[in-house]
Amino acid sequence: METRLLIGGQFVAGDGESLPVLNPATGKPIVSVAEASTGQVDAAVVAAAKAFATWGRTTPMERAGLLLKLAQTIEDETADFARLESLNCGKPLARVTADELPAVADVFRFFAGAARCLSGSAAKEYLPGHTSMIRRDPIGVVAQITPWNYPLMMAAWKIAPALAAGNTVVLKPSELTPLTTLKLAQVCAAIFPPGVVNVVHGRGATVGQPLISHAKVAMVSVTGSIATGQAVLQAAVPTLRRTHLELGGKAPVIVFDDADLDAVVNGLRTFGYYNAGQDCTAACRVYADAKIYDRLVADLAAAVSTLKHGAPEDEATELGPVISARQRERVAGFVDRAAATKHIEVVAGGRSVPGAGFFYEPTLVAGATQDDEIVRREVFGPVVSVTRFTDPDDAVALANDSEYGLASSVWTRDVSRAMKVAASLQYGATWINTHFMLASEMPHGGLKQSGYGKDLSMYGLEDYTVARHVMVNFG
Ligand code: NAD
Repeated sequence: METRLLIGGQFVAGDGESLPVLNPATGKPIVSVAEASTGQVDAAVVAAAKAFATWGRTTPMERAGLLLKLAQTIEDETADFARLESLNCGKPLARVTADELPAVADVFRFFAGAARCLSGSAAKEYLPGHTSMIRRDPIGVVAQITPWNYPLMMAAWKIAPALAAGNTVVLKPSELTPLTTLKLAQVCAAIFPPGVVNVVHGRGATVGQPLISHAKVAMVSVTGSIATGQAVLQAAVPTLRRTHLELGGKAPVIVFDDADLDAVVNGLRTFGYYNAGQDCTAACRVYADAKIYDRLVADLAAAVSTLKHGAPEDEATELGPVISARQRERVAGFVDRAAATKHIEVVAGGRSVPGAGFFYEPTLVAGATQDDEIVRREVFGPVVSVTRFTDPDDAVALANDSEYGLASSVWTRDVSRAMKVAASLQYGATWINTHFMLASEMPHGGLKQSGYGKDLSMYGLEDYTVARHVMVNFG
């Protein structure tokens, strides 16, 4: 198991404090990984800046070739990556293997192709005697910060477009889940020139902060909480560096009375609880028409109660633990406060699972109203709330009344109603009669306090470039 940092092509032990990495399914330590010192963060940024001088001038074809090689290696090592991700995050192994690893390899393949397909306005004489052309150039050293919920996938979403565009990177995974990123660093070191990919480990305050504040960092990309996004913005002020923020979510799910309720129940059972609900797009804030509310709550409570939590390596496990004891306490706090509210009823789950791991029962909360904490704040655990609406025209207003703006869905058999609602929702993604599905070709990113900047797609690639105008006077 790799526990060293990757700095300038060399694997080195961290000089900072040694941090235990826990298995959330057992609560026991897997290994300890030492944090980077501030000097090592500096060395990583300096190495990335040095590598940029040549990497930034490689052809798209060269970069695509190496990204394809990386995708292939990930695919070849799927079993090892999946086992490690499952161990460190408590995710059901079967799901990581079938869902996450193919998506990770695909992201590198997509951006390998995308690197060769940047487009823009045609070169032309927009002024007489002057030819104008558009360049799309890399930005420089990109500092990248990832969260603990999908460590490998988030690393892929960040590294792939940044390298495809010709940038170099210094990536810091979450201190809770560094293991697959350190393994990815091993693979990257064998493929890319020294300094193109650097990985440092450690906490936000000790390692993240010096990284996002480093004067040689030209852009910071973070996926994490709103508080971390704000720290990134503050650190960007002195040099006005670029920022790319993918922050939290509280996805509304609007269910109209003409929806296929069996499909809604199946969808919510899957998309509300996938990855133990630790997903910024989780289908967690349901608004149901009063005409179907009772049936939906009853059917969903029954369905949620059948979700099987257990050991990640057990094929039958659908739900793993949450990431840490602290996260479980946080989730339990939200549910306990909701349960103590007179008009709210916990109709499924609602308790921590006894035992050493950090398991929490899949939970459904009914009767919540718009101002309740459980409707307004991101829980980031296996908890879904259902709120009743009586006037279909109110549903969109309720859904939009949130500080978040990442993902949403609408469930109805009426195509024109679905399209009308989709046009009015203020969210980066809206799904119709589904939720949570991603495609590498389509952008992922938020509005409002969910942040800005896109992951995936050509829009994601463009975010890691700067559009430049070059004009020739031939007159
Ligand atoms: P977090 O913000 O606590 O941590 C995210 C990362 O930021 C970690 O690597 C952490 O060490 C680092 N960090 C914390 N403070 C920092 C600082 N001052 N400077 C630099 N780095 C710092 O979030 P988390 O608890 O790991 O992840 C959960 C959050 O991430 C949720 O709010 C979730 O919605 C969000 N998230 C968003 C998306 C998205 O695409 N929008 C995807 C996944 C997770």
